[in-house]
Amino acid sequence: MTTLRIADGRVLHPDLSVREGDVLVDDESGEIVAVGDVEAGDETLDAAGCLVMPGLVNAHCHAAMTLLRGYADDKPLDAWLREDVWPVEAELTDADVRAGTELALVELVKAGTTAFADMYFSMDEVAEAVADAGLRARLGHGVVGVGKGEDAARADHEESLAFAREYDGYADGRIRTMYSPHSLTTVDEALLREYVPEAREIGVPLHFHANETRDEVDPIVAERGERPLEYADDAGMLGGADFIAHGVHSDATEIELLAERGTAVVHCPASNMKLASGAAPIPAYREAGVTVALGTDGAASNNDLDLFDEMRDAAMLGKHAAGDASAVPAEAVVEMATAGGADALGFDAGRIAVGRKADLAVVDFEAAHLTPTHDAVSNLAYATRGSDVRHTVCDGEVLVRDGEVQTLDEDAVRERAAEHARDLVARAE
Ligand SMILES: [Zn+2]
Repeated sequence: MTTLRIADGRVLHPDLSVREGDVLVDDESGEIVAVGDVEAGDETLDAAGCLVMPGLVNAHCHAAMTLLRGYADDKPLDAWLREDVWPVEAELTDADVRAGTELALVELVKAGTTAFADMYFSMDEVAEAVADAGLRARLGHGVVGVGKGEDAARADHEESLAFAREYDGYADGRIRTMYSPHSLTTVDEALLREYVPEAREIGVPLHFHANETRDEVDPIVAERGERPLEYADDAGMLGGADFIAHGVHSDATEIELLAERGTAVVHCPASNMKLASGAAPIPAYREAGVTVALGTDGAASNNDLDLFDEMRDAAMLGKHAAGDASAVPAEAVVEMATAGGADALGFDAGRIAVGRKADLAVVDFEAAHLTPTHDAVSNLAYATRGSDVRHTVCDGEVLVRDGEVQTLDEDAVRERAAEHARDLVARAE
């Protein structure tokens, strides 16, 4: 075994206490083998003046939407999707998705994110990009049925399942897959009921958008006389490994249902604020025992992929919505961005402990805006920026060293993405 010693930092433990010490990782098994006072490793990563924390988990993303960053803003979800996003997405090529995804991966790892969930198209390109870049991911081809005939919709479901079958366990197990119907209102019920059991047979979890806006919830309640998540449950879509995105407009029955089934919720506060979707009932979810993770959603509705921003947004929105400054405290958002995310995605990561996956972020605390450190968790939730990340390690491999991405050529990725974005939008207009 070859070991990497992350040396001389302060370590954030699973109980969120902070103690001086080293972390030793085995870069072959990709696991943490010691925490605390550690003998020299084969290689050293200097963490003096830094906080060593679990790598952040972005549990709901559409990575290639970086190409649409700033393309259309300041509109409600439905109009934004129909007038701006979907027409451009109809023009997307495999090469566009690859270029946009690589741009996202650079942004993610530089800001300390080691794992993410991605629902998009051309997912084999996404999987290859993730395999090369070294992150961990749960990937799914997003199925959208609206505006399609039955044959095309059916082909879309089948593509999602074929991808899930083929790529689960890819890249030494760093890539896992999922079946991803876009949402309860954009996918036909009969096809859902037909294909969900097939996903169960493959053994992959489901991930879909749910209860994001009132405009999405109200028609389901009016037509069916039941809440959207009651419908999802009846269709077999709420299992213990499944996770939904948003969950903004969930009532007490639905929160209880999620808790009973063990289905996780991915909170996307920046996207929910930007599209004026509302504020998810995070205190109620957590009180009921629902696993809550954090996601940025796509860059077009955020507009960045910085999970430190997202932690701060989650805390601020939670307090604002509750009219209670003690709601959604710093500890809660740090937990959501690390252990909660890893649990939602089914990865044995998100905590610095022996035997866990060595997915870590090393944050430079020697910055003016992080001084003094009365409380490291407070600094992480309220004052840290993605650009404070000095090193990022995933599966025992160093992906960012002293701010430099090791596995991708950042300048080339940025230039390629800018070019693809320009050409894509030109084709759509
Ligand atoms: Zn989304």
